[in-house]
Amino acid sequence: MRLFSVVAVLAITGYLMLPENVWVRTVWQVTTGYAATAAILLGAHRLPRADRLPWWCFAAGVFLNTTGIPVSVVGEIYFGFLDLPTPADPFFLGLYPACALGLGVLVWRRDRRRDWTALVDAATITTGFGLLAWVYVIEPQDLGDRMNRWAHATQVAYPIGDLLLIGMMTRLLRSGGSRGPSLWLITGALAAFLIGDTAWVVLGNLGEFGVMLENARWFRRPLESVFLIGFLLFGVAALHADARQVAAAAETPPARLGRGLLALLAGASLIAPALLAVQLHHGTVVNGWALVFGSTTLFLLVVVRMAMLVRETERQARQVRDLARSDELTGLPNRRAWNDELPRALERARRDRTPVAVAFLDLDHFKVFNDTHGHPAGDRLLKAAAAAWHSALREVDLIARYGGEEFVVLLPGAGAAEARQILARALESTPLGQTFSAGVALWDGSETSDELLKRSDAALYVAKANGRSRVELASDNWTMQQAG
Ligand code: GH3
Ligand code: MG
Ligand code: MG
Repeated sequence: MRLFSVVAVLAITGYLMLPENVWVRTVWQVTTGYAATAAILLGAHRLPRADRLPWWCFAAGVFLNTTGIPVSVVGEIYFGFLDLPTPADPFFLGLYPACALGLGVLVWRRDRRRDWTALVDAATITTGFGLLAWVYVIEPQDLGDRMNRWAHATQVAYPIGDLLLIGMMTRLLRSGGSRGPSLWLITGALAAFLIGDTAWVVLGNLGEFGVMLENARWFRRPLESVFLIGFLLFGVAALHADARQVAAAAETPPARLGRGLLALLAGASLIAPALLAVQLHHGTVVNGWALVFGSTTLFLLVVVRMAMLVRETERQARQVRDLARSDELTGLPNRRAWNDELPRALERARRDRTPVAVAFLDLDHFKVFNDTHGHPAGDRLLKAAAAAWHSALREVDLIARYGGEEFVVLLPGAGAAEARQILARALESTPLGQTFSAGVALWDGSETSDELLKRSDAALYVAKANGRSRVELASDNWTMQQAG
């Protein structure tokens, strides 16, 4: 990798200083391009078999594009091929689908979970740039009447190829997985191609000044070398030790909507109104329909993105609420959920004029169990007991963990006898020969949930005092007041 990087720097510097002879330059370009192809293939060969495909695609792209150079020079000098499409165009154009395919495979490997938001982001950015390309590159190509259909298609194919690369590159950068040197080298290579292509387009739109620049050696040479830099960066990326990580499946999802991405999305979305403003400023709206279509697409993409974010937020909110309402160890509703549920149950009972009972359960001598068998065994008992009691209760009953080894049970519609019977069944089901004591209070039809709970707690203490492993019925309010 080091050696190749040094050779690459020399190749570029050398190219900038070559004499004007077309053959010398062509040979230099072709040697550089094929050396880059060889480097990519060598790098791929060092990778595990399954990771080689994207690199083969990149190598094919660089090889084809390089081959286009001598084909175009020979065609021009010996056969006078100047009208589009020239025999070199298929070779030049081969770069785009080959690289796009390689990038597609990379993204596929990295993101095992399909990330639709990343796709929408890539589509938004590509649409924005697509509109720009349409207005400045694709639609103006139509104006020359000397061009036939094929010539037109060929010329339009280049910006479309660039858009393809922009889309795939955005998608790659939006993927999860490693962000090591190899990824940035690939990005750099693609950026070089895009910069090179864009520079030619801009030159073409600059009129006389563009022609002057094009013929100025100090400008033309670096511009041509930009493509060579792209080839070589691919070579370095393939030879870098980090190439192993590039295709590795992402373990963590990518960071969400950072400031840079947000700015890029905003920028892409604003391209449509900006173009409209420019054309209005010049007095005529030339690309009205393209702008209508482009801005509509961008609006819809933004709405889809927004819907995705809202869905995700709602899903997370549900998740957080469920977490906040359930007990981690036993999976039962926790005290918070119970505190919400009890007043509601009392309200229902008031409306339906049905009875309701509330029980307080507490494991007997749980401290001894912990001390004898260890805390983890105590945890397992809590879990098993919670599950056993839950199955011993009726479908309509609600059991929650109130804290520690204390549980509360809501028994809708149950009178004293039925409540006793249900709790006796639960007591029977307690695992590992353990027992609990419970106090049951029947709702008097007017007391608050706190008062009801307090009475069942008092009954629990009576049960403990009376020898444990039993269920005690709370005295009613009237008796309590008399005693108090
Ligand atoms: P009693 O029959 O009077 O209820 O006796 P007890 O030992 O069950 O009551 P005490 O309140 O003295 O002790 C409760 C014990 O429960 C003490 C505490 O360490 C244990 N405990 C509370 N929460 C947990 C838990 O989540 N896991 C485990 N393993 N132990 C817990
Ligand atoms: Mg206790
Ligand atoms: Mg206890």
